[in-house]
Amino acid sequence: MDPNILHNIGYGMYIASSNKGEAINGQIANTAFQITSEPVTIAVSINKKNLTHEFIEASLCFSLSILLEDTPLSFIGRFGFRSGREENKFKDIKFERLASGCPVVLDHCIGYLEAKVINKLDCGTHTLFIGEMTESKVLRSGKPLTYDYYHQVKRGTTPKTAPTFIKGEEDIRSGDRKTQKYRCTVCNYIYDPANGDPDSGIQPGTAFEDIPDNWKCPICGVAKDKFVKET
Ligand code: FE
Repeated sequence: MDPNILHNIGYGMYIASSNKGEAINGQIANTAFQITSEPVTIAVSINKKNLTHEFIEASLCFSLSILLEDTPLSFIGRFGFRSGREENKFKDIKFERLASGCPVVLDHCIGYLEAKVINKLDCGTHTLFIGEMTESKVLRSGKPLTYDYYHQVKRGTTPKTAPTFIKGEEDIRSGDRKTQKYRCTVCNYIYDPANGDPDSGIQPGTAFEDIPDNWKCPICGVAKDKFVKET
């Protein structure tokens, strides 16, 4: 078997959200898709360890906010590499709670849909939730972010709890200072001097050593000292 074939399955990038009473949470999900059109049914795969899983089980409701292609990595990191058990991911961002209580993210999103769970499938580490669409709204026009674009262009990484995480997947290359990549030991984000980190004002061509000390991992937010040389 060649796991590389899995990189050729196309996905979008979404924030899947839910609530448990007053508590709300959301997470990055790429495995979401429409199943039928009459009625509109939607599926999303969620890791059983995630807080969003617990919330969907409780409210039987989930929403998907569809991310824009130019969403900053830090915004994706807020929802992708942190746990709602430790912090409120919705702090300081624009969101709204629908009539059901389920939250939807408004920043960096083309729009959202909400679904009521009508069925679910136990898939071992994950549950595939199937929902009938109950609400939806287009907020702005734009290109939706794809999983491929996130990896190839934005150099985003995949947390270990994602359905599409592939063990041992890394971009390994060596070189001098200006080409030496560094890897975040927390989230596996790779800093590549060729790309810099424009979202944080680090221009392409900046060696890792030349990045200011107050720079933070654009995905998980840890400091520079949590990075190691990529060999
Ligand atoms: Fe990181």
